[in-house]
Amino acid sequence: MDYRARQEELWEAIAAAGVEALIVVAPVNLRYLTGFVGEGVLLVGEEAHLSTDGRYAAEAGEATVAGAAFHEKGHWAGIAGIAREGGYLRVAFEAEHTTVAALEDLHKDLDGVELRPVRQIVEPLRARKGAGEIQAIRRAAQVTDQALGEFLAASAGCCATSGADCSTTSGPVAQSEKMGAFELLRLMLAAGAEGEAFETIVACGPGSAEPHHHPTDKTLEAPGPLKIDLGAKVLGYCADLTRTVYLGEPDETFRRVYRAVHEGQQRGLEAVKAGVRCRDVDLAARQVIEAAGLGDRFVHGVGHGVGMEVHESPRLGSTSEEVLAAGNVVTIEPGVYIPGWGGVRIEDLVLVTEDGAEVLSQAPKVSPADL
Ligand code: ZN
Ligand code: ZN
Repeated sequence: MDYRARQEELWEAIAAAGVEALIVVAPVNLRYLTGFVGEGVLLVGEEAHLSTDGRYAAEAGEATVAGAAFHEKGHWAGIAGIAREGGYLRVAFEAEHTTVAALEDLHKDLDGVELRPVRQIVEPLRARKGAGEIQAIRRAAQVTDQALGEFLAASAGCCATSGADCSTTSGPVAQSEKMGAFELLRLMLAAGAEGEAFETIVACGPGSAEPHHHPTDKTLEAPGPLKIDLGAKVLGYCADLTRTVYLGEPDETFRRVYRAVHEGQQRGLEAVKAGVRCRDVDLAARQVIEAAGLGDRFVHGVGHGVGMEVHESPRLGSTSEEVLAAGNVVTIEPGVYIPGWGGVRIEDLVLVTEDGAEVLSQAPKVSPADL
């Protein structure tokens, strides 16, 4: 990862904002800009300086920064000292990540310095991925696909992996939703993940009607939809994947809902291309689901950017003002949720290219033709 180039790109944005330096607080932004993993605060001017403490001396030594300071009164006192030494008069800070208490301390320590809140200054840089980042995400997607494949294969004859008749999926594939999530984490770690990108969702039956269901002690058993949403983390980068299968003989509701979500997802994937408005990708999927009479059950946007965080820019929703750019990595994940019955979501990770999209998720999907 070329941290110096990222700092230079940020420096241009800082200068364009009319300030002399930026105080970076969000840990993920610190890591993106310097490679530093730990607790600290960063000041980026023409050079980058880190304020941390002795616990992270080794990490600070490896970070791409001009200097690192350990201040006995804490990270914020340290960063104020760095700003004073730099002689800055106009310093911006990340409004979305700086606490009120930290800001009060800064005002005391930097009397006479203009402190200006800025939003979304590092995040737009993170939205366009470089080659090394894409490689890491690609690997995270492979690890995720593999873990899900192994999990579903362990449930005899599961259609999601074998392409076999979905009705032969009888389960249980794990004792409970919670144990299923635990097993999926184990499989991701065994396949090379450094951890999970977010808490794995395993939702069976009516629980699958909650888009972000927390796994419970509920047994995975037929009949009902089984929705699994998981993502591995590799080299600090996330993957995000959802598949829905049916345990037992699919009922008429599953057939109807699955077909709509599957086709909506296809239309969404086909709409992805550099220069396309995010809201138009959402619309492409939403129109299919609305035409099926399920529009009011599709209660979230069609997708989101993925990178060092599982949810980042750009957002793909009906009110999004953003436009897709080559190098964005986004999800396409329409879902339909029917309280009391269950839900269906299908989610792929996609790399936006100049002339279309490359779908990074390779995990098989249940084909509507097999229902
Ligand atoms: Zn997901
Ligand atoms: Zn997602």
